[in-house]
Amino acid sequence: MSKSVVAAKFSFPLDANIAKANLESAGIPSFIADEHTVNMQWLYSDAMGGVRLFVPEEYLQDARKILSEDFSAAVDSLCHSQPESCPHCGSQNVEPHTKGKRPAFLIFILAGFPLFFYQHGLKCSQCGYFWKT
Ligand SMILES: [Zn+2]
Repeated sequence: MSKSVVAAKFSFPLDANIAKANLESAGIPSFIADEHTVNMQWLYSDAMGGVRLFVPEEYLQDARKILSEDFSAAVDSLCHSQPESCPHCGSQNVEPHTKGKRPAFLIFILAGFPLFFYQHGLKCSQCGYFWKT
C-alpha cells in the first residue's frame, strides 16, 4: 500500500467532502481525517482543529491541481458574496459557519450534492448571531 499524504486542509467536513467528490470524479482515491484521528470519527469532532484530506502520495500533484481549480471556484461562489458585518450588532468580527453537519453528510452520501440542504452562513464572534447567506 502506498503512503498517504495530506492534499488539503479544510475548516469544515462539508468542504472536505466537496473536495473529496471532486477528486473521486477525477479518479483519485482519497479519505478524510481530522487532526487527531485517521478514521471516520471526524464526523463527531465538530470540525475542531480542521479536517484533512489525504491522497496516496503518487496522486498528490494531480490532487492539488484539481483542488486548486475546481474547489476554489466552488468556494468562491459560496463565500464571496456573503455580507461581512453582523446584521444583529454590526460587528465585522464574523466567520463562515455551518450548521447541520451530520444530516448534510448523510444527504451527501445519498444524493451526492448537499449544498441545497446545507445551512451555509456566517456567525458573529461578537454576539453569536448566525445568519444564512
Ligand atoms: Zn453580532
